[in-house]
Amino acid sequence: MDNINFGIDLGTTNSGLAMYDGGKITVFKNPVGFRDTIPSVVSFRKGRIQIGEKAREHIASNTGNVFSSFKRKMGSDESYAVPDIGKSVSPVELSAMVLKELLSFAQGHAPKSCVITIPASFDTIQSNATKKAGYEAGLQEVVLLQEPIAACLAYSNAQGQNVTEEKKWLVYDYGGGTFDAALVSINERELNVISHKGNNFLGGVDLDNLMVEKILCPKIEKAANLSGLWAKMVSGEDSSMKKLYFELLFKAEEAKKELSLKDSVTIEIDTESPELSVEIDISKTEFENVLAPKFEETYSLMEKLLRENNMRFQDIERIILVGGTTYIPYVREELQRRSGVTVDSSIDPTTAVLVGAAYYAGAKPSALEDEKTDDLPSFNTNIDLNLIYEPHSKDSEELVAGIVEGPFNGYYRIMRGDGGFDTGVLKMAQRFSEFLPLLPKTTNLFTLYLYDDNQRQVHTDTIKITNGLYNISGQPLPNDICLELDESSGKTILERIFRKNDILPLKKTIYKTCSKNILKNSDDKLIINIVEGNAGSMVGSNLSIGYVEISGRGFQQDLLKGMDIELNFKISESRDLSVNVYISSLDLEISEVFNPHQRAVSVEKLRSEIKDAMDEINHEIWNEEAEENFDYLSKLKRCLDHLAVLYNEASDIAEDHSTDKKYQLDEMKRLAVQEFDDLVRHKHVLNELREYQDTRDLFEQYLEKASPKQKDEFEKIIRNEKETLESGNKYLIRKKNKELEDLLNDIYRNTQERYIDIYYHLRFYDPREFRDPSKFEKLCDLGAKAIDNQNYPELKSICNQMWTLLINKPKGDDDLSSFDGNLGLK
Ligand code: ADP
Ligand code: MG
Repeated sequence: MDNINFGIDLGTTNSGLAMYDGGKITVFKNPVGFRDTIPSVVSFRKGRIQIGEKAREHIASNTGNVFSSFKRKMGSDESYAVPDIGKSVSPVELSAMVLKELLSFAQGHAPKSCVITIPASFDTIQSNATKKAGYEAGLQEVVLLQEPIAACLAYSNAQGQNVTEEKKWLVYDYGGGTFDAALVSINERELNVISHKGNNFLGGVDLDNLMVEKILCPKIEKAANLSGLWAKMVSGEDSSMKKLYFELLFKAEEAKKELSLKDSVTIEIDTESPELSVEIDISKTEFENVLAPKFEETYSLMEKLLRENNMRFQDIERIILVGGTTYIPYVREELQRRSGVTVDSSIDPTTAVLVGAAYYAGAKPSALEDEKTDDLPSFNTNIDLNLIYEPHSKDSEELVAGIVEGPFNGYYRIMRGDGGFDTGVLKMAQRFSEFLPLLPKTTNLFTLYLYDDNQRQVHTDTIKITNGLYNISGQPLPNDICLELDESSGKTILERIFRKNDILPLKKTIYKTCSKNILKNSDDKLIINIVEGNAGSMVGSNLSIGYVEISGRGFQQDLLKGMDIELNFKISESRDLSVNVYISSLDLEISEVFNPHQRAVSVEKLRSEIKDAMDEINHEIWNEEAEENFDYLSKLKRCLDHLAVLYNEASDIAEDHSTDKKYQLDEMKRLAVQEFDDLVRHKHVLNELREYQDTRDLFEQYLEKASPKQKDEFEKIIRNEKETLESGNKYLIRKKNKELEDLLNDIYRNTQERYIDIYYHLRFYDPREFRDPSKFEKLCDLGAKAIDNQNYPELKSICNQMWTLLINKPKGDDDLSSFDGNLGLK
């Protein structure tokens, strides 16, 4: 088996390819311009497709047919209309073109497997879309790697750092289109992303835009006696203005880069339509003035990331720089000055991700079947040899053990690829073990030979051990993965299956019960909906990533309320989600693998989610009306109106509607629900906190009556109380409150007061309401005595008997119906 060895950084602005070879990284140069990366730009021109530098040059002259920044649209169903070819292309197709172009640089290697990097924030669908682009580009195997991990691998491996204790690094990735900050822990030999934060619309291109708007436009207007230039350019109405806009953008970017080296630059603008011929000077200070607020945004995202993880800049050992925008001296200097943390810029920030991807690829075995069984001659023997060793080592030698299945008597020999080590031919019976010396910071290749008793070669094998290169312990999940469940109120809630930042791959089995009857041969359905997002938010504000409907049509038997359902969930490192549903009472098993690269949306579900959200908003409006908080009310009403429009549109489309409409509606619904969620969150959190505090206060009175087991339970519930209360997540707080209340009820039910309460409750009923009034009277007397004697078991039994005699038992009264269960009368 070979390692993957090839790594690609598929960036928003620039992309590149590198290869790992024996501990060293080769970046494949772009043959045009001989740069390390190519712009992620595709242009269509007279039936010709151009990718990279050439395509970028056409942005201004061929505006409608040149596409860039499509990474921001990965996983959406948006497509780009290309007038030149008379059809649309998707972000996946455009990305595949860039990947294909990159792969063509590795002439003679023809990579079939590749590591492709993705932002840490990419959700399941965006990740799968990236994989799909890789397959469309002709790859047979795509392994995804998160960009901050790649960057750390590049820094740590290249510097050969000796990290002996665990340290925290901050990855500051300020690229062309996006900003990402990641908090990473690094110990002796492993890297792990703890958490990350980012903004998909904060990058170098925003600086270019600001330069055009705030610096170039005013100066051109002044020099050429014009007005409203910026507005005209961005309105897109006038094609020559649009062209000018792209030209200025291009010039602004060049000027921006020059300002990373000089204190001032001069831009020449010479255009015919509109007729312009001006020279503009831009000083570094002017540029820094437009940059400063953007830098501020990146800085506060970092602060927020640290705060959320209870850390301060002092806890950070270094900040590592990634992304072309970090070339700007102001960014480096301000980072260092404000945070007080060492800013490490020892690696080219535009190739760090690329190089790291190749390091990772160099240590990652390919799952593809080898066509050629290595370079070794193959022997047709039946020897079954089991080799045991650690493929990654930080030591100068590593133990390798081999065991032959079945009887074997003969010899073995191990040689290192560079010829620097040879065991010579040694005797063995069935097993051997050997310490192999390793060359530092490289992958050591050894060949093992087995010979039979007559010293005839009967078997060969390859042993591959990489020394001294960092590896990663795994990639974290960027969002919670949750299952939607029915709640007693008729609404649905989310139960978290996998937690944000859990390390992939993951698996979990959970048991649920059926909450409705699904009769065989009926159209009723059991719905399993898996969403990605935040477990603490409303269902509708999350992304659906897996949806299974199990209809009664196929059942041999009825599925009844209360029956058990077993669910197995698995997510691979490359983000394939699989679900296995087992219903033992029906002996029914259903397996599904989801690797959606576009979102799956059920129109029926969409409608009901919009409806639920509208109900909730109406309820909130109704609650709030008396408060006369008009600003809040009008915001709620706006949300409601928006959803009502969406509801009407969703009602007009059929379930199997084939256009993009339902996806668009789903996205708009998600945003509208999120907006509502944000609006009410603060208020609801306060309410939940208040209720929690009430329950907690009540608890103090009952704690002494709790059994040791209940006390344990209480300790367990409040163990992470602080974290929950500070989470700002009303669902989490509500859940905790519910747990406490249940426990409180439990304690109360076994308290003596409880039976006294019940006794007095029944005692004052009219005797005629009981089947045997005289027996009832007798029980009343006995009860009074039992209370006098503090004989509570007796009292319990008396209450039980009184309850049995009662003719019309009250229903729905929480207190008495739980009493019901407690006395074993159910
Ligand atoms: P991405 O990760 O988005 O593909 P890169 O990391 O390659 O992007 O960064 C590209 C951005 O970096 C562009 O906006 C480019 O203008 C900017 N950039 C590149 N070099 C410099 C420089 N020397 N000074 C300032 N900005 C630069
Ligand atoms: Mg990047």
